[in-house]
This record gives sequence, C-alpha cells and structure tokens, in this order.
Amino acid sequence: VVYLDYNASAPLRPEALEATLSALRSVGNASSMHHPGRDAATRVDAARRSLADLLHCTPGEIIFTSGATEANNLALRAGYARGGLLVTTAAEHLAVVETARTVTSEQPGSLLILPVDRDGTVDLEPLGAALDNQRVALVSLMLANNETGVLTDLAPVCKAAHEVGALVHTDATQFVGRLPLDLGELDVDLLSLSAHKFGGPQGVGALFVRRGTPQPHRPLLVGGGHERGWRAGTLNVAGITGLGAAAQAAGLHLADEVARVSALRDALEAALTAEIGDCWINGARVPRLPGVTSITFPGLPADAVLAAMPQVAASDGSACSSGAPSPSHVLLAMGHSRDDADSTVRFSLGHATTERDIERAAAAAIDAVRHVRSVMAATTE
Ligand code: PMP
Repeated sequence: VVYLDYNASAPLRPEALEATLSALRSVGNASSMHHPGRDAATRVDAARRSLADLLHCTPGEIIFTSGATEANNLALRAGYARGGLLVTTAAEHLAVVETARTVTSEQPGSLLILPVDRDGTVDLEPLGAALDNQRVALVSLMLANNETGVLTDLAPVCKAAHEVGALVHTDATQFVGRLPLDLGELDVDLLSLSAHKFGGPQGVGALFVRRGTPQPHRPLLVGGGHERGWRAGTLNVAGITGLGAAAQAAGLHLADEVARVSALRDALEAALTAEIGDCWINGARVPRLPGVTSITFPGLPADAVLAAMPQVAASDGSACSSGAPSPSHVLLAMGHSRDDADSTVRFSLGHATTERDIERAAAAAIDAVRHVRSVMAATTE
C-alpha cells in the first residue's frame, strides 16, 4: 500500500521507534527518587529539551499530554476561564470546535466563530471588531489546516490580541515538524501538538504554555500535580521519549523534507490535474503546508474513488472524526456544496514518501477516477 495519509497519522520515524522501545524496556516512574525513577526522568527531560529545541522555546514551557485533543481542551479551558469572549474559526479541527462549544455553552454569546473564504483564509475583520469593542479572553486559530494544509498568518493576530490583553492559542498539530516554527518570533501564548503527526508515537502530545501564562484554576486532570499542576498522572515515559526522538529527527531533516515533500506534492498535483481535467485543488492559491493536497473531483463520490484504488491509503475529508460519514465542515465553511465536499480526496505525504510512491499513487488515482466516472455515466444513462 502507498501510504498517503500523513495528516491522519505519519509513520513512526526509525529514531522514534528505537527510543520508544528502549524506554519501554526500562522500568521506573519519572516521579520516583530511586535510580530507575531518575533514569525515566532523564528520558523525559531529554525529550522536553528536544521538543523545546524544535519549537525554539524553553523546556519549562512544555506540558506533556495525551495528544493535541487534550492540549486543545486544556488551552481553551485555561484561556476561557479568564472571562470574556472565545474567538475561533469555522475551519478548526473538531478538537477545537467542540471544545469551544462545550466551554462556552453556559454563557450564550461568548463564542465568536470567524468565517473563512473560498481559499480557506480566515476573515479577521470580525476579530478586529471584537477586540475593539468586547473583552476577549482567548483567540484560538490553527496554524495549518488538517484537510487543506492552508496556513494562517498569526503574527498580526498575536499583536492585535496582546494589545488588549487577550491570549492567543494555536492548534499547530499539522505544522510542527513540517515547517520551521520559532516561538521566539511567533508570539502565541499556548500551542498544541501531537507526536504522531511528525513521526512519533500515537497517544502523546504537548501543550506549549508561554512563561507567565495563568494556570487553569481547574485542570482537566487533577491528582498528583504532575506537569506543574497542568496535568496530573504518571508520565507516559515511552511515548514522551518517542516524541522527543521524533522532534529531534524532524528538526534535523526539516529543510530537506520541506523541499523534497513539496516537490513530490507538486508532482502529484500536476499529474492528476493534467490527466483528470475536471477537478480542482482546494487552497491552491494561498500558502499551504508542503505535504498536503485536497482535490475535488466534482460529481464523483470520494468514497467510491478511494474504494477504486485500494493500493493507496488516502482520505475522504478528515479521518479524525471516527469515520463519521458527514461532509467536511472545513470544505462547507469554505463555501463548497455538500456534494463537492463529498467528492474531495485528501492525499498527505511526508518524511518517508518516495518518488515511486507518487508515481504509483498518481497512476492509481487516475485509473480510479476514470473508473468511477464510467460507472457514474452508466448508471445515469
Ligand atoms: N488538531 C488537528 C489540526 C489535527 O489534525 C488533529 C489530528 N487529526 C488533532 C488536533 C487531534 O490530535 P490527536 O487525535 O492526536 O489528539
């Protein structure tokens, strides 16, 4: 199978596999004072440093979590608890959309959802008006969209929000390890990430909390007060060790991977658009992640296209919503019809994708589209 679903989950990097296995073979709770406990704590410290190096922040600003979903829940709860409006966008991952709805549910009118345009770019005008006229607690905008790869320019948002004392959170799950990120320059207060999107294991992630950001009064998980009181529970030493190794490897190869992966993505898009004709690429006119392409084949159900190319693992919309057969809220927010949203396939590439993978995937996708087209034509006759 040609695996082109890196935005759902990227393959484990060899360095991460080795590091995770080595940690799994050892014993010890990172909070214990004896030698094995210290050994576990040393692994966690090293991972914290590796992740901090990748993000250009300090190790003390990292809270390890079970993934980006938990980091988003934590960030939105902490930010919103300060009182005021919560601002986010219509194209966020459900881990932000649903958390935003949940935390604001008891206070009608306390959630502002910014629209996006046909390219997936966020309309910041209502945010400007809210910052001018209302007390805004937290602005949460993703750095890169999981379905289209479309990027958000957060620098002006941070500047405007901080001028009135609002906090800024970003869900950077699809961005970390795929494009350079410097938290010395990007002035967000909170940032979420998940290890399995950049070659670490599943079930582990982190929340960056800039020094000085107020701690939540009520953390999601209370207990032993781990992670500076942000998140109680014995640390997932093996997962965190794997995350650290993946962060280090991703950082080491970042420049090469950006160039290589975007060239592969461009080759895939060129092959498909040249051979298929009636199709379009969502977000193609604006800055995007290197490794993602979201292609709409109007009139052809994406699930049928995917079923006609079983040798390629790609996705119809977002695999993150437990396979629920509803149209992508991201594409609907961009103004696409339900039918077009249901006719969209996402291919996402990454560190282990090869030229041969792209040649095979392009050939399979072209055949699949032709096949589905002929079936559809026969059934409508
Ligand atoms: N945010 C974004 C943008 C994502 O793509 C994902 C994963 N699909 C998540 C959050 C949630 O990550 P996890 O499932 O690892 O918690």
